Amino acid sequence: MYYSSTRGEKKHLTSAQVIKKGIADDGGLYMPEMIPQIDNDFISSLCNLDYKSRAEKVLSLFLDDYQNLAQLCEKAYSEKNFGENPAPVKQAGDYSFLELWHGPTCAFKDMALQFMPLALSESLKMTQSDKDACILVATSGDTGKAALEGYKNLDKIKIMVFYPSDGVSKIQKLQMSSQEGDNVNVCAIKGNFDDAQSGVKKIFGDKTYAQKADRAGYFFSSANSINWGRLAPQIVYYISAYCDLVNNKKINLGDPVNVCVPTGNFGNIFAAYIAKEMGLNIGKFVCASNKNNILTDFIKTGVYDRNRPFYQTVSPSMDILISSNLERLLYLLDGSEQTAQNMKLLNENGVYKISDQTHAKIEKMFYGAYCDEDNTRNTIQKYFEDYSYLMDTHTAVATYCAEQYRKNTCDNTEMIIVSTASPYKFAADVLSSFGKSSQGDEFSAIDALKEQTSTQVPAPIAELCGKSARFNTVVNKEEMAEQVFEFLKRG
Ligand SMILES: *Cc1c(COP(=O)(O)O)cnc(C)c1O
Repeated sequence: MYYSSTRGEKKHLTSAQVIKKGIADDGGLYMPEMIPQIDNDFISSLCNLDYKSRAEKVLSLFLDDYQNLAQLCEKAYSEKNFGENPAPVKQAGDYSFLELWHGPTCAFKDMALQFMPLALSESLKMTQSDKDACILVATSGDTGKAALEGYKNLDKIKIMVFYPSDGVSKIQKLQMSSQEGDNVNVCAIKGNFDDAQSGVKKIFGDKTYAQKADRAGYFFSSANSINWGRLAPQIVYYISAYCDLVNNKKINLGDPVNVCVPTGNFGNIFAAYIAKEMGLNIGKFVCASNKNNILTDFIKTGVYDRNRPFYQTVSPSMDILISSNLERLLYLLDGSEQTAQNMKLLNENGVYKISDQTHAKIEKMFYGAYCDEDNTRNTIQKYFEDYSYLMDTHTAVATYCAEQYRKNTCDNTEMIIVSTASPYKFAADVLSSFGKSSQGDEFSAIDALKEQTSTQVPAPIAELCGKSARFNTVVNKEEMAEQVFEFLKRG
């Protein structure tokens, strides 16, 4: 299996090479040159396997240059990391919820970020790299912690995370500043997320920094969701959920299902699209957005226009105006030439329009919907009152959109709603859905939510309370590169 860029560069790289490289030299994203096909026999053979083995079987179709996928999956999806089942499907009301937040940081990014670091580590061996990797991450919260947990204590890899000192929650800050591991570093910067992000991009784009790193024995790499190593592991859980529904007799093998995904960067929902392209019978993709509803408009009109206000919402991991992975869908539908042109327009003017034919194809498969702040809270409250099912703000956005879809289309096909975070990760806002607020900090919101709902606090969040900060550095955004090179000098 070989990979090429969405913008036309054809170097026919292996999966180990693209996981190491992250982004193509022409600025495009890597895609497999053909999508492997699965049939009902294949799906049926997965039905009586556990998650690790399902992951191994599906990933081996894409990462066919890896010899030890079984071992990597065993380690990534271990009971220690995810408990008994990394991706359980739960029933509440008329929907099946695919819960993807049983990992070490209680958000769905663990599903990919427990696997990809192991794959990178292996890739360094397979490509006989004489340099070590230095992973740089700018984070608004969830990704930074998930990446730190994934890369900690791996050979030949260092990781450095930058976060805006006033732009993350108190829990997220403590999660990162108390991080363990001897190859990790965490640094707050004075500024907002954009400052952190552009600072990291500047380091990635600067040739003299690359040479300086090279002399120190390193190359820079990214843990960002545009890396194929983050996308591939996300395909697995859609196929796994389908197997669980067959096992529980909710559907028969071969029946269609719909999926509804709370979407930011378009990574998670695009993984579902690949599963369909492989042969999984998915009927409709409900693309759920919050008040930042750029994708809802795009699906409706065929125009992607980022010239609009940016809102901070109670579902912050979806507060995004550039959905990077949409580029991969456009490439599959439109080819690389058109995609390169549209991405250039997006870069220069912040807007592009797809052809009427491509728009018609997208509208046939995708349904765009969005949910405002009030409906997010109402949905959390309603599902807890009616079904004793407690969900986080991102999952609530998706649930509301799934309801809208059914109401407006009368399509009652079995619907999988993707649940992307533990309610305790966003405790204060979940608590406010019950008309309550907590006095004091977020830890008191966690206690209050526990009291209000008699539900269990996940261990990684409960354990945080007693932890103290290891990393206290705060710097100006101009000093980020200096921090990185100081870190690389240390043993
Ligand atoms: C990252 C994230 C999302 C959005 O996922 P994308 O792949 O960026 O579309 C949704 N919910 C939560 C909790 C997240 O952390």
